[in-house]
Amino acid sequence: MLHTKIIATIGPASESKQTIKELILAGATCFRFNFKHSDLSWHKERIERVRQVSKQLSIPVALFIDLQGPEVRIGDLPGGSFKLKKGERVVLAAETLSGKKTIPIPDKKVFAKLKTGNIIYLDDAFIELKVVEKKKDYFIVEVVEGGVLKSRKGANFPSLDLELATLVEKDMKALTLAQTEDLDFIGLSFVRDEIDIINLKKELKKRKIRAKVIAKIETSQAVANFDAILEHTDAVMVARGDLAVEFPFEKVPGIQKEIIKKCRNRAVPVIVATQMLQSMVDYPRPTRAEISDVANAVYDFADCLMLSGESAAGKHPVKALKTMAKIAQFVEKDITGNGLDLMTDDMNEVITQSAFWISKSDFALEKKISKIVVLTETGQTARLLSRYRPKLDIIAVSSRKKTVESLLLSFGVTPFYLKYAHNTAHSVKKVMEFLKQKGQLKKGEDVIFIHGEMWGTPAQTNTLKIQHIS
Ligand code: PGA
Ligand code: MN
Repeated sequence: MLHTKIIATIGPASESKQTIKELILAGATCFRFNFKHSDLSWHKERIERVRQVSKQLSIPVALFIDLQGPEVRIGDLPGGSFKLKKGERVVLAAETLSGKKTIPIPDKKVFAKLKTGNIIYLDDAFIELKVVEKKKDYFIVEVVEGGVLKSRKGANFPSLDLELATLVEKDMKALTLAQTEDLDFIGLSFVRDEIDIINLKKELKKRKIRAKVIAKIETSQAVANFDAILEHTDAVMVARGDLAVEFPFEKVPGIQKEIIKKCRNRAVPVIVATQMLQSMVDYPRPTRAEISDVANAVYDFADCLMLSGESAAGKHPVKALKTMAKIAQFVEKDITGNGLDLMTDDMNEVITQSAFWISKSDFALEKKISKIVVLTETGQTARLLSRYRPKLDIIAVSSRKKTVESLLLSFGVTPFYLKYAHNTAHSVKKVMEFLKQKGQLKKGEDVIFIHGEMWGTPAQTNTLKIQHIS
């Protein structure tokens, strides 16, 4: 079984039911809806499509909407795109000025901060501009590195603190959809500090949205404030696309390792994202460097890997996912040790650590134990166990549906939903019967089983046993 979780971004290349089905069967556990592109109704329709396919297959998938947050994007260009030549001078303004080749930036706050000499990067720094002159209502910029610029591409201003609000107007609309569709994860782009996460969580609470928050680490401020962000967020993404523009790119691989390590220490799921198999947007085989990148993210102990353009707009969405899964599955087995050295002073932590040690023992080998069954209300016990990266499958059973979906970003965890009574002896039987029916357990095998005696009470996991399946 594949233990690494994979997120596929939905776009024109992957929006058909057939492709969604193939992606799920190939190992996608979560789908990302990137609200920086397309309108609300486009996303709503595809969200419902993914849900239908997941239901047909009886395989749960998590749904993740990605908010723009305090990120600057350019507006729409006439005809959708134009070419920028090196040395060319064009206009930068809030909206397209008639008779002038304009790069529109609707966010007016930018103009208050911009100064002559500032560098601006567009489209993941494929295009570079330099501000050469300030006019009354606009700026003149010179193209340092040219290329074809398309509408709505991201703009980075690495040297400026733009003091933008946490959420843009479009994000508010996306939150309305997150509420009606009861989505599972909300990613916030361009997080600067924990205040952004707190602000988003306040907004979610106000709207009674139960989704978990993913902090996308893609600015140098977020790297500097990472520890505080980690205290407040539910999951983290190493968003390397923008991070490598906002931050010296040679530092990104090291930061990736450090972020993953910190996340595991706190049992917070961590995603490595962007350009993992970029060449597969066009070609059916990955480059050797990409194979290495995917493999190294798994060797670094990431929970989850993400496909962006490869699945949203590429020529080979399913092939890209299969390629990622194949590399990840090999590396998971190849890894020795778990790279984690933790002091545990909490009951859940001691129990999960012990379950991990048992899973590695000769006893488990002799008994051919291949699974750890966890009963978990909030998902925390499953996450605490997952961070040790046991080689065995972790089967998590929860009586809360939202917990099931929230575990679809956690390494090694296969979550199931089951309503069970809070009565130990009866419930054990019911859970085991259910897992047998699902083909997860076989009569006669032994499993490691952890749960709380106080069934349904979060953070009360106090029981660890070897359960014989009869
Ligand atoms: P994006 O975020 O794809 O939404 O820009 C990921 C990244 O920047 O790496
Ligand atoms: Mn980004």
